[in-house]
Amino acid sequence: MVSRVIPVKPFDLVIFGGTGDLARRKILPGLFRRFIAGQMPSDARIIGAARSDIDAQGFRDMVRQAVSEFGGTLGDKALAEYDELDSFLAQLDYVTIDAMGEQGWSELRSKVRKELVNAFYFSVAPSLFGDIAERLKKHGLADEDSRIVVEKPFGRDLSSAQELNETLASFFKEKQIYRIDHYLGKETVQNLMALRFGNIMFEPLWNANYVDHIQITVAETVGVSGRGAYYDKSGAMRDMVQNHLMQLLCLIAMEPPSQFSSDSVRDEKLKVIRALQPVAPHEIVRGQYDATETTLSYREDAENPRTFTESFIMMKTHIANFRWAGVPFYLRTGKRMSNRASEIAVVFKALPHSIFDSNDHGRNVLSIQLQPDEGITMDMTIKEPGPGGMRLVNVPLDMSFADALGPDADDVPDAYERLIMDVIRGNQTLFMRGDEVEAAWAWTDPIIEDWKARNDVPKPYDSGSMGPLDSQALMQRDGRAWRELKK
Ligand code: NAP
Repeated sequence: MVSRVIPVKPFDLVIFGGTGDLARRKILPGLFRRFIAGQMPSDARIIGAARSDIDAQGFRDMVRQAVSEFGGTLGDKALAEYDELDSFLAQLDYVTIDAMGEQGWSELRSKVRKELVNAFYFSVAPSLFGDIAERLKKHGLADEDSRIVVEKPFGRDLSSAQELNETLASFFKEKQIYRIDHYLGKETVQNLMALRFGNIMFEPLWNANYVDHIQITVAETVGVSGRGAYYDKSGAMRDMVQNHLMQLLCLIAMEPPSQFSSDSVRDEKLKVIRALQPVAPHEIVRGQYDATETTLSYREDAENPRTFTESFIMMKTHIANFRWAGVPFYLRTGKRMSNRASEIAVVFKALPHSIFDSNDHGRNVLSIQLQPDEGITMDMTIKEPGPGGMRLVNVPLDMSFADALGPDADDVPDAYERLIMDVIRGNQTLFMRGDEVEAAWAWTDPIIEDWKARNDVPKPYDSGSMGPLDSQALMQRDGRAWRELKK
């Protein structure tokens, strides 16, 4: 299968925080991959902007280093070994700028070509968003067609998210604001929509009549060492559930939009968030990882021996609408878990009656893997091959992209690069709208406030496990179990 690359229009992309961790790890290597794929026009330019006193050549050297350190491989060789690197670097420029002062803004103004698509990526701390937005307007850099890209976190509760949205709204229209949640840029997540709305066979089954429950897991093996103090102010609920897990839940649960356009899709997602039920305390398990011989405990990593912040959370929630009445959605995410794996599993109901000797041959499960490899499997019951009568087995029908796309699987863009190209194209479908973010906080806030009011203490769990045993017990109480995740 040959993947098609459609070049975008010529653009000037300014990356505020171009020297930072996110830019070096994700944004710039991702843009280089798009360059190699032929998607970046030869007259497009990427302008790094930060306080560091370097010139364009210094920035190019830094990007060369970042590509070799974080670029990984493309096909059978390292990204940094591609001959196109020099031509890509030649399209980079840099401006020393202070988001909070006046230095550098007129130089940036002189570099940005207004006749092209202009996008400004705010890869800086959210506290600088307002300063940058204001100066973009004040210095005549942004007009009605400019786009801004903002990174999570979008606030830490409803009121701070509202404040952030109001600040951005005083300088830009909603159609100019691209709030990135990189989970939405994953190939499989978009395939989830293709699967649901591009095939006739799933939609009739996609409801409380046929679906028993849904599991969403985002498990990480890393802890928070190195950024413990920062993480300790948010925790798994704010850092993962409020954004990534809720976005995945929305795509699974939403009604079919009338068309695949940004507002139709986002309207439907918003309805799901608004229909989410409050979660009772006994349907939540919070945890903190313990130390091992070689790694520190969460409390040590957070440098806060008395912290009540969770590094793991599991919860059961419901969506109050016709489609999902009574269907539990189980969500879990955590650090220092046994494997790095993200999966959404739609577990269908058992057969109403089995004509075979035994009815315990397994359920149909549609599982969508996001990490470590992206792919979709459907567990089906078939006859075990060979003689010996009608013995049944449950086997997965497997669609991993590596198999389906053959050698072109390497050309599947990473989430960041795909989303940046969507910004240039002006397509907001895979970005969060301001009202979605606020609705998500409106659901999250009371849960967090309840923990605070009760001084809720997270349960310890072994590093390298799947979280506190209570999270298995909560499932067992419902007569269900967490699926084993692919290693
Ligand atoms: P970082 O490594 O601390 O980088 C911050 C960048 O901002 C640096 O380039 C810094 O460069 C620049 N900067 C700081 N103050 C500035 C000022 N007054 N004027 C102009 N530039 C300034 O942070 P990061 O990890 O890249 O994160 C950037 C944003 O992305 C944050 O909002 C973060 O929450 C979000 N995010 C990051 C990741 C990730 O994987 N890193 C993932 C998701 C979201 P100078 O010091 O040279 O000015």
